[in-house]
Amino acid sequence: MSKTSARQSAIQAITTYNPESAGFNFREVKPTQIFGCNVFNDKVMRERLPKAVYRSLTKTIRYGETLDPAIADTVAAVMKDWAIEHGATHYTHIFYPLTGQTAEKHDSFLMPDGHGGVIAEFSGSMLIRGEADGSSFPSGGLRSTFEARGYTAWDVTSPAYLQEAPNCTVLCIPTMFLSWTGVVLDKKTPMLRSGQALGREAKRVLDLFDVKCDLPVVAFAGLEQEYFLIDNNYTFARQDLLMAGRTLFGARPAKGQEFSDQYFGVIPQRVLSFMMEAERELYKLGVPVCTRHNEVAPSQYEIAPVFEQANVAVDHNHMIMAALRNVAKHHGLKCLLHEKPFNCINGSGKHLNYSVGNAELGSLFNPGDTPHSNAKFLIFCCALIRAVHKYGGLLRATVASASNDHRLGANEAPPAIMSIFLGDQLTEVLAAFRSGHLEQAESGAKKAVMDIGVDTLLSLPRDPGDRNRTSPIAFVGNRFEFRALGSSQSAADSITALNAMMADSLGYAADWLEREMKGGKTFNDALQSFVCHVMEEHSAVIFNGDGYSEVWHQEAERRGLPNFHNTPEAIPVLQTPEVVELYERLGIMNPAEIRARTEIYLEQYCKTIRTESVLTVRMARTSIYPAALAFQKQLAETCAAIKAMGREFQTKTFDLVTGHMRALQERTAELEAVMAEAGAESDLQKQAQRYCTEVLPAMNAVREVADSLECELPEDLWSLPTYQEMLFNK
Ligand code: ADP
Ligand code: MG
Repeated sequence: MSKTSARQSAIQAITTYNPESAGFNFREVKPTQIFGCNVFNDKVMRERLPKAVYRSLTKTIRYGETLDPAIADTVAAVMKDWAIEHGATHYTHIFYPLTGQTAEKHDSFLMPDGHGGVIAEFSGSMLIRGEADGSSFPSGGLRSTFEARGYTAWDVTSPAYLQEAPNCTVLCIPTMFLSWTGVVLDKKTPMLRSGQALGREAKRVLDLFDVKCDLPVVAFAGLEQEYFLIDNNYTFARQDLLMAGRTLFGARPAKGQEFSDQYFGVIPQRVLSFMMEAERELYKLGVPVCTRHNEVAPSQYEIAPVFEQANVAVDHNHMIMAALRNVAKHHGLKCLLHEKPFNCINGSGKHLNYSVGNAELGSLFNPGDTPHSNAKFLIFCCALIRAVHKYGGLLRATVASASNDHRLGANEAPPAIMSIFLGDQLTEVLAAFRSGHLEQAESGAKKAVMDIGVDTLLSLPRDPGDRNRTSPIAFVGNRFEFRALGSSQSAADSITALNAMMADSLGYAADWLEREMKGGKTFNDALQSFVCHVMEEHSAVIFNGDGYSEVWHQEAERRGLPNFHNTPEAIPVLQTPEVVELYERLGIMNPAEIRARTEIYLEQYCKTIRTESVLTVRMARTSIYPAALAFQKQLAETCAAIKAMGREFQTKTFDLVTGHMRALQERTAELEAVMAEAGAESDLQKQAQRYCTEVLPAMNAVREVADSLECELPEDLWSLPTYQEMLFNK
């Protein structure tokens, strides 16, 4: 589609849009009536499963007890009947390979009955385990193709659900994905294992506080999802959006987000109508979506569900991303989940609100009302401080990707330096512990107390006060908000890391307290010495100031905090002895599995930049240069005509455009040369580095001159929809 037709179609779609025709309202059918209607949830199970089976299954779901294989056949039969009643014909084991996407292979329930007919069949073994030819998923050399069998294993803790599409309904069963030899090939398995380690170590600490609970201690996650929406017609005329998910060209529009008129602004009708439909689909799937609003950049929005157990929250986030993409099409829109679809305006993140606890205890990051719960809070808070100080690099590595590199440290997202914002009051209280001068904490904690025994602990500030948007990890009252995750990324790797780091630090705390008490200290003294110790060793990671400032970058360096600027720098952290030891000790992944991940992530990085650079060359040659050539011809003809009239003429624009065209050709050729060199590099780490330091700048050089041409050429010769059109027509 040419620009004009793409633009005309977009404008027509926008101007003729009729919100009434969007098709549904919540007058007849209320959200409460449809919420969870497509989920094989507790209510369905309680109604349909035999009592004993229901009891056994909920023990596994709630208390993490091993699944009794004897109940699988019954559960499968009930699940199948329920699914078929709702129109399902197929089932699929949904899994999360290392591509970061979801994967699914559909199988029909139908089996030949031997008499020329068919019967619907779904056995316990089909529910529990599926076979998936794993050879086409990245494995980082863990499996050679001849032994490529992989299998999927039912994750009982994430409910099965029905995915509806036009003409079909599929029963989806969330699963783990492993090789036949038991090697982990997905993102879910390590996350589940890390959750178990976290629960184990947290219970050790709670035991010392004499806190008893039946439920396991788990991680919770609330994932805020940012995204862009533009008219879908534009993507037909932009190869870059279609293939790379971001614009590789595009001059800065006359205005961007500098008027600050977007954030929480009025949501355009077409977008609101889209949101309602996306939310309705998500209600049906039991995803508790709750918040929506305009984001900072033009045409940027956010959707956030209420937090849930981390594993379910991650699965639900994948469902949210899928719903946004699919429903956008019904409204003639394109949902862009890329971290940086457009230059010179903000990119999109996925804030991960993280806490540890359970329904009985609430959040253990909640200071609480009693000295006792405050003391617990201090231990969990100190555990996180130590964890981020020790393993900040790991956390950084979990958010490393080619697309997120555009965001981190770019004055719109937190810097790549992992630090914690606690707020002044809490910092003051902790600093007072360190100095031993608790009276200093008075202003922060209302009450001056000399002894920090659990019986007399000062009441801690509940709210950190001001919101600090420049910090990658911010304390927000009852949880920590991790802001470095990118919009398109799965949250699983970051949650795995957070769980593992926390498990390590909580285990360390339990060891410390037990040892001190064995040495004759009272519990209160042991507690105080632990907090003191963490503040002495790890307070360098606390920073309440402006994370964007140059001063902080220097200060962080002085404090010895690592700053991994980009993906090729960050990914190797996964292979450092500390990280390998941590994951192995906690039973999350073995060294070979970690090495495979490192390789896959570096490979993905290289492939992404390669695709983008191929597109850059192609677009420069096939659409930008020809447009410039047409203009050059027009200019030359005009000059010739003026000359023929014997009049004086000037060639300023002609020279300018010709100069840009020459530069475009030269820079494109240069880009091709560095691409070839980078591609020929056999060492993967070095290859990634070259893509980062040589290919990316060469791409940007092409873009720079192309964007200059965009500002010179007549509008009707320019074939790419412009930033102004894409971002402001809605
Ligand atoms: P903001 O944009 O101000 O950070 P939002 O309401 O957009 O707030 O998102 C906050 C997210 O944090 C929601 O998903 C919310 O459910 C989640 N959340 C609230 N309490 C907790 C908690 N204890 N643990 C994890 N997530 C939480
Ligand atoms: Mg937030």
